[in-house]
Amino acid sequence: MYKIRQRIYISVCLIGILVWSGCDPKGQPDAATGDKLRVVTTIGMITDVVKNIGGPRVEVTGMVAPGVDPHFYNPTPKDVQRLGSADIIFYNGLHLEAKMGDILAKMSEDTLTVAVTDAVDRRLLLTPPEYDGLYDPHLWFDVKLWMQTVGKIRDALSEFDADNAALYRSNAERYLTELTELDAYVKSQMERVPSEQRVLVTAHDCFNYFGEAYGFEVRGLQGISTATEVGIADVQELATFIAARRISAIFVESSVSPRSLEAVKAAVRSKGFDVRIGGVLFTDAMGKEGTPEGTYIGMIRYNIDTIVHALIAESEL
Ligand SMILES: [Zn+2]
Repeated sequence: MYKIRQRIYISVCLIGILVWSGCDPKGQPDAATGDKLRVVTTIGMITDVVKNIGGPRVEVTGMVAPGVDPHFYNPTPKDVQRLGSADIIFYNGLHLEAKMGDILAKMSEDTLTVAVTDAVDRRLLLTPPEYDGLYDPHLWFDVKLWMQTVGKIRDALSEFDADNAALYRSNAERYLTELTELDAYVKSQMERVPSEQRVLVTAHDCFNYFGEAYGFEVRGLQGISTATEVGIADVQELATFIAARRISAIFVESSVSPRSLEAVKAAVRSKGFDVRIGGVLFTDAMGKEGTPEGTYIGMIRYNIDTIVHALIAESEL
């Protein structure tokens, strides 16, 4: 029933777009008049890559706002309008945008609609057992893996706007250099944490790629998606693990309610051990636009700095 209602909603929205946009065809951008490519994205991390590669040639709108959880995000009527007038649509794929599948499929019929993770070698993707054979979608936490999406975005922009392909190529090269430096920074910071303290406990399992790439053991209270229910048994199991391993800090996520981790903290205390909240990490959404954490590079740097600071400070006591 829900599915049927969702389909009716999308159909009504699509009719709305057709009326709204009239018969105006989406043509190639006209360099002479300074027309920009209209790009619509889902998560901020993709928006930021597009901005870096497209520069002033693109006008990019991200649908999922800072602090909002993409696993649950339903496009608004305004989003649907924007999608309808976009030249290119970029999304993560791998079921991250679980509620947007129907509309993205519909849009792909006549708009260049690109899942940026299609570029990534499937052998490098993780398939955690609790995710029923599906791939883990959170690959932006492994900077080297996320770098593979840059070429996909560069190629799509160049395909639509061949006149500026050289610009997109040089911007992509510059950005990849910055991401290589970022990857080296994360590695160097991680090495400051004593190996027995390299355990990252968060609200949901979004740091598996981070753990693989940078040598952290990772535990999430929820599964891969925030849609998974949390039970008392999950809280107790995690609390037992934290107390047994004497883990000094656990981390809240910016796009997930902190309540469940507060429950874990209380459960740990009842076992005679104190764990503290080491800070808020940006996980499935970046920080506010205009702040350092409002960019992909800033977000990753902030996260590793927060993790390292919390785990080192306690271990030195
Ligand atoms: Zn997630």
